[in-house]
Amino acid sequence: MSLPPVLDQIRIVLVHTTHPGNIGAAARAMVNMGLGRLVLVAPKRFPDPEAGHRAKGGLSVLENARVVDTLDEAIADCTLVVGTSARTRKVDWPCLDARDSAVEMITAAAAGRTPAAVLFGREDRGLLNSELQRCHWQLNIPSNEDYSSLNLAMAVQLVAYEILCSARAQQGEMAEDTREWPSSAELEYMHEHLRQVLLDVEFYDPDNPGLVPVRVRKLFTQLSPDAHELGMLRGFLSAIQNALAGRSKRRGRSGESP
Ligand code: SAH
Repeated sequence: MSLPPVLDQIRIVLVHTTHPGNIGAAARAMVNMGLGRLVLVAPKRFPDPEAGHRAKGGLSVLENARVVDTLDEAIADCTLVVGTSARTRKVDWPCLDARDSAVEMITAAAAGRTPAAVLFGREDRGLLNSELQRCHWQLNIPSNEDYSSLNLAMAVQLVAYEILCSARAQQGEMAEDTREWPSSAELEYMHEHLRQVLLDVEFYDPDNPGLVPVRVRKLFTQLSPDAHELGMLRGFLSAIQNALAGRSKRRGRSGESP
Protein backbone atom coordinates (compact mmCIF):
# COMPACT_ATOMS: atom_id res chain seq x y z
CA MET A 1 0.00 0.00 0.00
CA SER A 2 1.44 3.40 -0.92
CA LEU A 3 2.06 6.03 1.73
CA PRO A 4 -0.66 8.65 2.08
CA PRO A 5 0.68 11.96 0.69
CA VAL A 6 -0.72 13.83 3.70
CA LEU A 7 2.18 12.39 5.77
CA ASP A 8 4.49 14.75 3.96
CA GLN A 9 2.70 17.65 5.63
CA ILE A 10 3.54 16.56 9.15
CA ARG A 11 6.87 17.31 10.78
CA ILE A 12 8.37 15.93 13.93
CA VAL A 13 10.18 18.52 16.05
CA LEU A 14 12.61 17.37 18.74
CA VAL A 15 13.28 20.16 21.20
CA HIS A 16 16.68 20.35 22.93
CA THR A 17 17.39 16.62 22.72
CA THR A 18 20.35 15.52 24.83
CA HIS A 19 21.18 12.03 23.52
CA PRO A 20 22.08 11.61 19.83
CA GLY A 21 20.97 7.96 20.07
CA ASN A 22 17.44 9.16 20.69
CA ILE A 23 17.59 11.37 17.62
CA GLY A 24 18.69 8.42 15.48
CA ALA A 25 16.07 6.10 16.93
CA ALA A 26 13.40 8.74 16.39
CA ALA A 27 14.46 9.06 12.73
CA ARG A 28 14.14 5.32 12.30
CA ALA A 29 10.73 5.29 13.96
CA MET A 30 9.61 8.03 11.60
CA VAL A 31 10.75 6.22 8.45
CA ASN A 32 9.07 3.02 9.63
CA MET A 33 5.82 4.96 9.83
CA GLY A 34 6.24 6.90 6.61
CA LEU A 35 7.17 10.28 8.07
CA GLY A 36 10.13 12.10 6.57
CA ARG A 37 10.34 15.61 7.99
CA LEU A 38 12.47 16.00 11.07
CA VAL A 39 13.42 19.30 12.70
CA LEU A 40 15.91 19.48 15.56
CA VAL A 41 15.81 22.49 17.85
CA ALA A 42 19.28 23.09 19.34
CA PRO A 43 20.25 19.44 19.88
CA LYS A 44 23.08 18.96 22.37
CA ARG A 45 25.14 16.68 20.11
CA PHE A 46 24.36 16.54 16.43
CA PRO A 47 25.54 15.27 14.02
CA ASP A 48 26.95 12.36 15.97
CA PRO A 49 27.93 8.78 14.98
CA GLU A 50 25.59 7.39 17.66
CA ALA A 51 22.62 9.01 15.89
CA GLY A 52 23.65 7.35 12.63
CA HIS A 53 23.99 3.94 14.27
CA ARG A 54 20.56 4.07 15.81
CA ALA A 55 18.89 5.44 12.66
CA LYS A 56 19.74 2.39 10.50
CA GLY A 57 17.32 2.65 7.54
CA GLY A 58 16.26 6.07 8.77
CA LEU A 59 19.56 7.63 7.76
CA SER A 60 18.04 9.70 4.95
CA VAL A 61 15.69 11.41 7.41
CA LEU A 62 18.63 12.15 9.66
CA GLU A 63 20.67 13.56 6.79
CA ASN A 64 17.79 15.75 5.68
CA ALA A 65 16.93 16.90 9.20
CA ARG A 66 16.73 20.66 9.59
CA VAL A 67 18.66 21.96 12.58
CA VAL A 68 17.49 25.30 14.01
CA ASP A 69 18.31 27.37 17.08
CA THR A 70 14.83 28.14 18.33
CA LEU A 71 11.37 26.63 18.48
CA ASP A 72 10.09 29.74 16.69
CA GLU A 73 12.16 28.85 13.63
CA ALA A 74 10.95 25.25 13.72
CA ILE A 75 7.25 26.07 13.66
CA ALA A 76 7.01 29.54 12.13
CA ASP A 77 5.15 28.34 9.02
CA CYS A 78 2.98 25.72 10.79
CA THR A 79 -0.77 26.23 11.01
CA LEU A 80 -1.20 23.42 13.53
CA VAL A 81 1.15 22.62 16.41
CA VAL A 82 0.72 19.79 18.88
CA GLY A 83 2.90 19.30 21.97
CA THR A 84 3.51 15.89 23.51
CA SER A 85 3.73 15.49 27.25
CA ALA A 86 3.77 12.67 29.76
CA ARG A 87 2.16 14.73 32.48
CA THR A 88 -0.73 17.07 32.87
CA ARG A 89 0.34 20.57 33.69
CA LYS A 90 -0.77 23.18 36.14
CA VAL A 91 -2.18 25.27 33.33
CA ASP A 92 -5.17 23.37 32.08
CA TRP A 93 -4.30 23.03 28.40
CA PRO A 94 -6.59 21.09 26.01
CA CYS A 95 -5.39 17.50 25.98
CA LEU A 96 -6.06 14.60 23.59
CA ASP A 97 -4.66 11.11 23.59
CA ALA A 98 -2.37 9.94 20.78
CA ARG A 99 -5.15 8.37 18.74
CA ASP A 100 -7.59 11.26 18.84
CA SER A 101 -4.74 13.68 18.20
CA ALA A 102 -3.74 11.76 15.08
CA VAL A 103 -7.30 11.74 13.76
CA GLU A 104 -7.63 15.50 14.38
CA MET A 105 -4.28 16.24 12.76
CA ILE A 106 -4.89 14.12 9.69
CA THR A 107 -8.40 15.51 9.22
CA ALA A 108 -7.05 19.05 9.52
CA ALA A 109 -4.09 18.37 7.24
CA ALA A 110 -6.28 16.71 4.60
CA ALA A 111 -8.52 19.78 4.69
CA GLY A 112 -5.49 21.92 3.86
CA ARG A 113 -4.41 23.03 7.33
CA THR A 114 -0.71 22.49 6.79
CA PRO A 115 2.09 22.12 7.63
CA ALA A 116 1.52 20.56 11.04
CA ALA A 117 4.14 19.92 13.72
CA VAL A 118 4.34 17.56 16.67
CA LEU A 119 6.78 18.68 19.36
CA PHE A 120 8.74 16.34 21.63
CA GLY A 121 10.55 17.60 24.71
CA ARG A 122 13.85 17.12 26.48
CA GLU A 123 14.66 13.72 27.99
CA ASP A 124 14.94 15.18 31.49
CA ARG A 125 12.29 17.89 31.63
CA GLY A 126 10.02 17.45 28.66
CA LEU A 127 8.60 20.59 27.04
CA LEU A 128 8.58 23.80 29.05
CA ASN A 129 5.16 25.23 29.86
CA SER A 130 5.96 28.19 27.63
CA GLU A 131 6.65 25.76 24.75
CA LEU A 132 3.46 23.78 25.38
CA GLN A 133 1.53 27.00 25.35
CA ARG A 134 2.57 27.51 21.73
CA CYS A 135 0.55 24.36 20.93
CA HIS A 136 -3.06 23.96 19.90
CA TRP A 137 -3.36 21.05 22.25
CA GLN A 138 -1.32 18.69 24.38
CA LEU A 139 -0.96 15.08 23.23
CA ASN A 140 -0.66 12.42 25.89
CA ILE A 141 0.18 8.77 25.29
CA PRO A 142 -1.90 6.78 27.79
CA SER A 143 0.50 5.04 30.17
CA ASN A 144 1.09 3.84 33.71
CA GLU A 145 0.26 6.73 36.05
CA ASP A 146 3.10 5.70 38.36
CA TYR A 147 5.64 5.86 35.53
CA SER A 148 4.21 7.71 32.59
CA SER A 149 7.36 8.98 30.93
CA LEU A 150 8.36 6.98 27.83
CA ASN A 151 11.73 7.03 26.15
CA LEU A 152 11.72 9.90 23.67
CA ALA A 153 12.12 7.76 20.52
CA MET A 154 9.46 5.33 21.72
CA ALA A 155 7.07 8.22 22.18
CA VAL A 156 7.87 9.32 18.61
CA GLN A 157 7.22 5.74 17.48
CA LEU A 158 3.76 5.57 19.02
CA VAL A 159 2.68 8.99 17.85
CA ALA A 160 3.96 8.31 14.31
CA TYR A 161 2.15 4.96 14.31
CA GLU A 162 -1.15 6.59 15.18
CA ILE A 163 -0.58 9.23 12.52
CA LEU A 164 0.06 6.54 9.88
CA CYS A 165 -3.03 4.52 10.94
CA SER A 166 -5.18 7.62 10.76
CA ALA A 167 -3.80 8.66 7.39
CA ARG A 168 -4.38 5.17 5.99
CA ALA A 169 -7.92 5.05 7.37
CA GLN A 170 -8.64 8.38 5.78
CA GLN A 171 -7.07 7.31 2.48
CA GLY A 172 -9.23 4.16 2.59
CA GLU A 173 -12.38 6.21 3.05
CA MET A 174 -11.39 8.36 0.11
CA ALA A 175 -10.67 5.33 -2.04
CA GLU A 176 -14.07 3.91 -1.15
CA ASP A 177 -15.70 7.07 -2.43
CA THR A 178 -14.38 6.34 -5.89
CA ARG A 179 -16.03 2.92 -6.06
CA GLU A 180 -19.07 2.57 -8.29
CA TRP A 181 -22.17 1.26 -6.63
CA PRO A 182 -24.88 -0.75 -8.39
CA SER A 183 -28.39 0.63 -8.60
CA SER A 184 -31.25 -1.05 -6.84
CA ALA A 185 -32.48 -2.34 -10.23
CA GLU A 186 -29.07 -3.92 -10.94
CA LEU A 187 -29.13 -5.58 -7.54
CA GLU A 188 -32.57 -6.97 -8.32
CA TYR A 189 -31.26 -8.48 -11.58
CA MET A 190 -28.55 -10.18 -9.56
CA HIS A 191 -31.03 -11.51 -6.99
CA GLU A 192 -33.25 -12.83 -9.80
CA HIS A 193 -30.24 -14.43 -11.49
CA LEU A 194 -29.17 -16.00 -8.20
CA ARG A 195 -32.71 -17.26 -7.53
CA GLN A 196 -32.73 -18.86 -10.97
CA VAL A 197 -29.39 -20.61 -10.42
CA LEU A 198 -30.43 -21.88 -6.99
CA LEU A 199 -33.54 -23.35 -8.60
CA ASP A 200 -31.47 -24.82 -11.45
CA VAL A 201 -29.25 -26.63 -8.96
CA GLU A 202 -32.31 -27.58 -6.91
CA PHE A 203 -31.00 -25.84 -3.84
CA TYR A 204 -34.54 -25.45 -2.56
CA ASP A 205 -38.02 -26.61 -3.44
CA PRO A 206 -39.82 -23.80 -5.31
CA ASP A 207 -43.16 -25.01 -3.99
CA ASN A 208 -41.94 -25.02 -0.44
CA PRO A 209 -39.01 -22.55 -0.18
CA GLY A 210 -39.38 -21.73 3.51
CA LEU A 211 -37.07 -18.91 4.58
CA VAL A 212 -34.24 -19.88 2.24
CA PRO A 213 -34.82 -17.18 -0.42
CA VAL A 214 -35.07 -14.49 2.27
CA ARG A 215 -31.91 -15.72 3.98
CA VAL A 216 -30.02 -15.82 0.69
CA ARG A 217 -31.20 -12.29 -0.07
CA LYS A 218 -30.07 -11.12 3.36
CA LEU A 219 -26.66 -12.72 2.90
CA PHE A 220 -26.03 -11.10 -0.47
CA THR A 221 -27.43 -7.76 0.67
CA GLN A 222 -24.98 -7.77 3.57
CA LEU A 223 -22.17 -8.44 1.14
CA SER A 224 -22.96 -5.05 -0.38
CA PRO A 225 -21.01 -5.72 -3.60
CA ASP A 226 -19.78 -2.75 -5.62
CA ALA A 227 -20.53 -2.59 -9.35
CA HIS A 228 -17.34 -4.46 -10.26
CA GLU A 229 -18.00 -7.22 -7.74
CA LEU A 230 -21.60 -7.48 -8.86
CA GLY A 231 -20.44 -8.01 -12.45
CA MET A 232 -18.13 -10.77 -11.23
CA LEU A 233 -20.97 -12.39 -9.31
CA ARG A 234 -23.21 -12.29 -12.37
CA GLY A 235 -20.39 -13.87 -14.42
CA PHE A 236 -20.00 -16.53 -11.77
CA LEU A 237 -23.74 -17.34 -11.90
CA SER A 238 -23.68 -17.45 -15.71
CA ALA A 239 -20.71 -19.85 -15.59
CA ILE A 240 -22.70 -22.18 -13.34
CA GLN A 241 -25.63 -22.06 -15.78
CA ASN A 242 -23.33 -22.70 -18.76
CA ALA A 243 -21.74 -25.66 -16.99
CA LEU A 244 -25.17 -27.08 -16.19
CA ALA A 245 -26.31 -26.58 -19.80
CA GLY A 246 -23.11 -28.28 -21.10
CA ARG A 247 -23.65 -31.20 -18.78
CA SER A 248 -27.25 -31.75 -19.84
CA LYS A 249 -26.17 -31.47 -23.52
CA ARG A 250 -23.50 -34.14 -22.99
CA ARG A 251 -25.99 -36.34 -21.20
CA GLY A 252 -28.46 -35.83 -24.06
CA ARG A 253 -25.83 -36.91 -26.62
CA SER A 254 -24.79 -40.00 -24.66
CA GLY A 255 -28.44 -41.02 -24.20
CA GLU A 256 -28.24 -40.81 -20.41
CA SER A 257 -31.41 -39.87 -18.64
CA PRO A 258 -31.10 -36.31 -17.27
N1 SAH B 1 10.64 13.76 32.39
C1 SAH B 1 9.92 14.38 31.32
C2 SAH B 1 9.57 13.39 30.28
C3 SAH B 1 10.52 13.43 29.20
S1 SAH B 1 10.32 12.12 28.14
C4 SAH B 1 8.64 14.98 31.81
O1 SAH B 1 8.31 14.74 32.95
O2 SAH B 1 8.00 15.68 31.07
C5 SAH B 1 10.78 12.91 26.65
C6 SAH B 1 9.64 13.28 25.76
O3 SAH B 1 8.99 12.10 25.31
C7 SAH B 1 8.54 14.12 26.36
O4 SAH B 1 8.88 15.48 26.41
C8 SAH B 1 7.43 13.87 25.38
O5 SAH B 1 7.69 14.62 24.22
C9 SAH B 1 7.62 12.39 25.08
N2 SAH B 1 6.82 11.53 25.97
C10 SAH B 1 7.27 10.65 26.87
N3 SAH B 1 6.25 10.03 27.48
C11 SAH B 1 5.12 10.52 26.94
C12 SAH B 1 3.73 10.27 27.14
N4 SAH B 1 3.27 9.39 28.02
N5 SAH B 1 2.85 10.99 26.40
C13 SAH B 1 3.28 11.90 25.49
N6 SAH B 1 4.57 12.14 25.26
C14 SAH B 1 5.48 11.49 25.96
